[in-house]
Amino acid sequence: MGDVVKKLAILGSTGSIGQQTLEIVRALPHRFCVVGLAAGKNISLLAEQVDEFKPRFVHRFSTDSQDMHDDLPAGDYELLPLDDIACHPEVDIVVIATSGKSGLLPTLAAVRAGKKIALANKESLVMAGDIITSEARLTKAQILPIDSEHSAIWQCLQGETQNVAQLILTASGGPFRGYSPSQLAEVTPEQALKHPSWLMGRKVTIDSATLMNKGLEVIEAHWLFNMPFDNIKVLIHPQSIVHAMVEFADGAIKAQLGYPDMRLPIQYALSYPERIPNQQLPRLDWSNISSLTFEQPDFDTFPCLRLAIEAGKRGGTCAAVLCAADEAAVELFLSQRIRFVDIANLVEQALEQHQAIANPSLEEIMAADAWARDKVMQLAAGANPW
Ligand code: MG
Repeated sequence: MGDVVKKLAILGSTGSIGQQTLEIVRALPHRFCVVGLAAGKNISLLAEQVDEFKPRFVHRFSTDSQDMHDDLPAGDYELLPLDDIACHPEVDIVVIATSGKSGLLPTLAAVRAGKKIALANKESLVMAGDIITSEARLTKAQILPIDSEHSAIWQCLQGETQNVAQLILTASGGPFRGYSPSQLAEVTPEQALKHPSWLMGRKVTIDSATLMNKGLEVIEAHWLFNMPFDNIKVLIHPQSIVHAMVEFADGAIKAQLGYPDMRLPIQYALSYPERIPNQQLPRLDWSNISSLTFEQPDFDTFPCLRLAIEAGKRGGTCAAVLCAADEAAVELFLSQRIRFVDIANLVEQALEQHQAIANPSLEEIMAADAWARDKVMQLAAGANPW
């Protein structure tokens, strides 16, 4: 019996998720091949990937850095616009592994082409969840979550068709779990970038430290699983072994467990509905696990989680403002222009000053995004009013 080889386009191939997706392709070359690669920040790594995987289509995000002078190797590939790769008929699965708002337009292009979309970028669903999910219903595009919590929920829901009572997302709590607000005011980017259990890109690592990441994931879960916000809970689980749980109407709870390793959710999205053996994926060693603990999140010390859930409930352009304000504030924190706690302060002020638009068009979402980035820069440039 010959296995079908699925043809992948990986957008954001040099980032953390992109590189781990390529590890899965390397481990399972009889099941997956790469037909498209797109990246922007690390052109020399993209050049190595082009050399190794010989894609048919390549896209280089425009950069203004010295990377412009690094060349891609000569080869039998076509340079195409990002959206053309996302909807190309040769592509079976589009992996959206870019970070921040850059994921939105290629995700929409793939949705409109009715593709299978392995989605690691949470911002696109947070910003435009209504548009993406309603268009996907029309085109029959399938959104296959790569975010570990959403992959876990999706796995728990297999074989279940109804009567889900609640979704429970777990969070490690990040490097500052248990800190007081005054301790938090002093933390540095270096400390915030040291995540206790997950190895991820910089933006998502800072978002994990503020718990904004979990807030974005609540909104993502709302759209992916069509679940009201009041039926989505967050539990702090420092060991990061239980990735999410689903509670059903009869009170039964299903959970998905595994070491915190993104390759498992990536492979599941690519191989779905099949499970494929892969010797490189880690197995839980029960002799090393003494306890799994759970606690309630501290919404007062980590206000980003509350801000995100409120923005999700308010709906319209609020989640786009949340996302954009956070992205701008995280950049300011990483370049040491604001304190860690100012990320939440800036996001909160941007949300307070935003005039929300209900049922926004894509243009209105983009305008809200631009407004929020400007607002954060203005607020940060002025005298710190807090
Ligand atoms: Mg996650």
